Amino acid sequence: MQLLSLTLDGFKSFAQKTTIKFEPGMTGIVGPNGSGKSNIIEAIQWVMGEQSAHHLRGDRMADVIFNGSADRKPLNRALVSITLDNSDHYLASEFTELTITRKIYRNGDSEYLINDQNVRLKDITDLFIDSGLGRESFSIISQGRIEEIFNGKPLDRRSIIETVAGVAKYKKNKETAEKRLATTMENLNRVNDIISELE
Ligand code: ATP
Repeated sequence: MQLLSLTLDGFKSFAQKTTIKFEPGMTGIVGPNGSGKSNIIEAIQWVMGEQSAHHLRGDRMADVIFNGSADRKPLNRALVSITLDNSDHYLASEFTELTITRKIYRNGDSEYLINDQNVRLKDITDLFIDSGLGRESFSIISQGRIEEIFNGKPLDRRSIIETVAGVAKYKKNKETAEKRLATTMENLNRVNDIISELE
């Protein structure tokens, strides 16, 4: 799997539609302070499903939308797309090339697309969950995060190891199953109440 390109349109300082193509090998992004290097990394995190505005240095998710400059009005929507070569089927999808798109509007509405088809956030999260990428992975480490990991509590560090070891996926499935079980138990109790009322 390889990241082929990234498109930012209205995301943070990228008011104008900008596409960055990635060649095989290592890519370095250089530029003066405040030129948008971190915004590029955050765009990749965001399109892979990041749900914390705080992790993107904002208060609300809509803060990722270009909010105007001296010579440009604020925009009403931000869009980020990544295209991945998936010919080795590293990501669990039948497609050999995947374009993942996320949009957000000022009113907070969001859209997620895989190859131009509307999908749920869960579909994006599931796509990346066992890949070492995605919103809770450690393939993107921001300044300050390393210190946070070193100073973290043992339980927090355990969750890091679980994520890296691929256990996180099963924990998540277990949580979903437990929630369903609890709902079913509640329904069962209600049915039993009704039965005893009728008896
Ligand atoms: P450094 O080298 O100092 O870490 P950088 O190249 O990583 O800087 P970024 O932090 O990515 O730069 O970009 C910061 C710039 O992005 C700031 O000028 C900030 O005003 C701008 N910016 C952030 N969010 C928005 C937004 N929603 N709309 C417009 N501009 C934004």
